[in-house]
Amino acid sequence: MNMKTVLIVCDGMADRPTRALKGLTPLQAAHVPTFDRIASLSECGIMDLISPGQPPGSDTAHLAIFGYDPEKYYSGRGAYEALGAGIDLKPGDVAFRCNFATVNEEGVIIDRRAGRISSEEAKILAEALKDIELEDVKSIFISTTEHRGVLVLRGEKLSRMVSDVDLHKTGVKIEKPIPLDSSEEAKRTAKILEEFITKAKKVLEEHELNKERVARGLRPANILLPRGAGTMPNVKNIEEVWGIKGAAIAGGALYKGVAKALGFKLINVPGATGGLDTNLKGKVDYTINALKEYDLVFLHIKATDTVSHDKDPVKKKEVVEWISRELTPLIDLVEDRGYYLVLTADHTTPSEVGDHRGDPVPIAIMGPDVRRDSVERFDEISCAKGGLNRIRGIDLMKILMNYLGKVPLFGE
Ligand code: ZN
Ligand code: ZN
Repeated sequence: MNMKTVLIVCDGMADRPTRALKGLTPLQAAHVPTFDRIASLSECGIMDLISPGQPPGSDTAHLAIFGYDPEKYYSGRGAYEALGAGIDLKPGDVAFRCNFATVNEEGVIIDRRAGRISSEEAKILAEALKDIELEDVKSIFISTTEHRGVLVLRGEKLSRMVSDVDLHKTGVKIEKPIPLDSSEEAKRTAKILEEFITKAKKVLEEHELNKERVARGLRPANILLPRGAGTMPNVKNIEEVWGIKGAAIAGGALYKGVAKALGFKLINVPGATGGLDTNLKGKVDYTINALKEYDLVFLHIKATDTVSHDKDPVKKKEVVEWISRELTPLIDLVEDRGYYLVLTADHTTPSEVGDHRGDPVPIAIMGPDVRRDSVERFDEISCAKGGLNRIRGIDLMKILMNYLGKVPLFGE
């Protein structure tokens, strides 16, 4: 039985025509023979991750791709970040993404990234935050990469309905977390979060490392700014839903976290950073290897979104070419073995805009018995002419599982 599937998501890869590339999208302008081979062997189309015109976050987009309706199951980003960072999140926990940041004496945020503090220094500060005691709630804080970290509040009667403290702005006074609904739980959680921030501020201000940073002319990491409160999504895992074993290969914590929450086994690849310096060759090797054991292997590549947020369409074209090249051994294997493979993106990130937009993304489904269409190029415009036409993100998993013979009959 060759019922194996590879699901490749290049984050934010879809784009719009751009002047920097003479009116082409980065995918159109790129020389990507392997992507084009996938398109030739596929049924192609375009996909609205949520609905036409709705810009998706990476979290909701991935829920949809994995077949979980985000309108029903989305429970905030923080939980995914915590799971992806390796925290054993439990039902009832509330998790937040956090930034180490810098505030001045008036409480005005002057740097949301604390002078781009290094991962090593952030780790030292995180260690000092371990001992913070809160009234009948336990706090868990770990730093992840550079200025980023994750906070988990563990205890009774907590709610994710609390406001973000990090408003993505500098030059403004730090705000207190406030409850977002009228429940006692939300009020209580906002109060506890405020207590944590206040106590953390005191620890950070008095920390030797911050005094040293100031002496070296660097900004101190003297405050934590939480945002994106989230709880464990209450879902059946992928194995229960479809009877398949899934594995996930990703660099970024968010993607690992979403996959983990849905029951995928995380496979860690040395040097997979979720950045432009990622070990893509290694990720492709590990994907090939994971196919021996798993039915569905999810491979996530972040670099395409990073260069889009940096508003660099020319670099994006190069990144796309690099990905196409590195995928070649995997595509050879999939074609040879008669496996299925999906190539797509989780949203459009136009590199002139530098943020997510609601345009559909190109998608190709390759497999031994798919209805191949006449599309021979993998890009936003060519794929729109394909046999898959226009689907929604939530449709993808059922289309794939239909090929694998996993979808039960409706009726008799
Ligand atoms: Zn994304
Ligand atoms: Zn993005």
